[in-house]
Amino acid sequence: MFDRPADVPDTLKPPLHDETRQGEPLMIEHRAKYKGRKLYIESYGCAMNFADSEIVASIMLDLGFETTSQYKEADVIFINTCSIRDNAEQRVRNRLREFSAAKRKSPGMTIGVLGCMAERLKSKFLEEEKLVDIVIGPDSYRDLPNLINQADQGSRAVNVLLSREETYADISPVRLNSNGISAFVSIMRGCDNMCSFCVVPFTRGRERSRDPYSIVEEARELFNNGYKEVTLLGQNVDSYKWNQGNGEHGIENGTEVVGQRTANYQQLTTNFAQLLEMVAKINPDLRVRFSTSHPKDITDEVLHTMIKYDNICNHIHLPVQSGNSRVLDLMNRTYSREWYLERVDTIKKIIPDCAISTDVIIGFCTETEEEHRDTLSMMDYVKYDFAYMYTYSERPGTLAAKKFKDDIPQDVKTRRFNEILSKQQEVSHKRLLNHIGQTYRVLIDGLSKKSDQDFSGKTEYNITAIFPATGEHKPGDYVNVLIERCTPATLLGKIITN
Ligand code: SAM
Ligand code: SF4
Repeated sequence: MFDRPADVPDTLKPPLHDETRQGEPLMIEHRAKYKGRKLYIESYGCAMNFADSEIVASIMLDLGFETTSQYKEADVIFINTCSIRDNAEQRVRNRLREFSAAKRKSPGMTIGVLGCMAERLKSKFLEEEKLVDIVIGPDSYRDLPNLINQADQGSRAVNVLLSREETYADISPVRLNSNGISAFVSIMRGCDNMCSFCVVPFTRGRERSRDPYSIVEEARELFNNGYKEVTLLGQNVDSYKWNQGNGEHGIENGTEVVGQRTANYQQLTTNFAQLLEMVAKINPDLRVRFSTSHPKDITDEVLHTMIKYDNICNHIHLPVQSGNSRVLDLMNRTYSREWYLERVDTIKKIIPDCAISTDVIIGFCTETEEEHRDTLSMMDYVKYDFAYMYTYSERPGTLAAKKFKDDIPQDVKTRRFNEILSKQQEVSHKRLLNHIGQTYRVLIDGLSKKSDQDFSGKTEYNITAIFPATGEHKPGDYVNVLIERCTPATLLGKIITN
């Protein structure tokens, strides 16, 4: 029987926004290897932030730090923050109060605020939070050695410069709280869309894509180290685009050439579908996932690439935000209800068993009851496998904050939220019932949280399956699982040999 490894948390496969991972202490896998000053780091928000913390940890490791799970014993405390909704920021403020109390007892301690909230508030943070020493935005992590040095000398330090080029392509992230099976790989940073509700373009800067060869190398290295699943991350993966530097790499008369340019020369560009294929080709046993797809940009080429490779998981996270075209227009999502429905129909035509998940914003400015019902009917039509649902939270500086009044009363937002939530519970339960009697290839990611007699794993649709553990298998193995029953959110079954 497989024993639960020490120091590995229960949350073995973090989804895009995992409530259970918010604020957990992030530790380097083999922590005994390093002895040095102690870093305590915790992250809030999306998968991108968790991936960034791995870049930060890598830089700090090079500075001689080791990680600790106890912030009270740390020399440096980093909190990687999220600004997407007001309550995400309030959570960070509360946590900073606890860190500040620890610092009062150990004045030598350095507290650093990283990520989106640092970028949004900049040096104002130092005025508002008197015990914070370092404020560092998501594009400035290379400056950490300098900022730590300044803090060591008693100065407070800020670097919130955004970059048009930074992708940290050459920094090999150390894996934090890793199960050794699944990992996130950033393929791009920033966002050029201007959804009117969203703070991301202001906190993470302009969109830029990372060199595909460095992405493939990172994924290959993960596979060589025993990982079985990578999730390619970007705010809008479908607009991934890489032009070979200075055109020294291209195609001439159908042949790849390096270093020559003639009239027939065409610059080599890699788009998302091509990148997906490059990663899928690393090994058929490496599962490939990606997120987030934007409804205005997802191409049929991506769908055809998904169907061509068994190891690209048939799951698309396709945030709808609203089912009503007028609201979508106010949100500046640049697609309509009809456009979104066409994309869903095309996905289902090309990949009939594709799981689709979504994000919904409830109670956006001026949303009427009828428009809210359009979102409910969209959910009935698409039958999302799962959804992240949020009530609208006005963010300072965004287009919506400047142009529209946040005029839906909180009690109405809450009631609409509950209606959306129960609709989602109804449709996802129906979707789960459809899996009963099917056999799926499941990647075991650990023991079930409820029983160490059971394994937990994910189907390619990103749905958790629980089944009795056997001595022959271990986490990281693929097994065929016959689905026999389900709870409202989980599939239950047993391993079958063929
Ligand atoms: N880039 C992704 C996309 O366009 O779908 C989303 C990234 S955002 C980090 C994750 C989700 O947060 C969004 O899809 C949206 O549903 C939600 N969100 C963003 N701003 C929000 C706001 N001001 N109020 C409520 N929810 C918000
Ligand atoms: Fe925000 Fe829209 Fe960019 Fe997503 S696509 S990060 S919602 S601006």
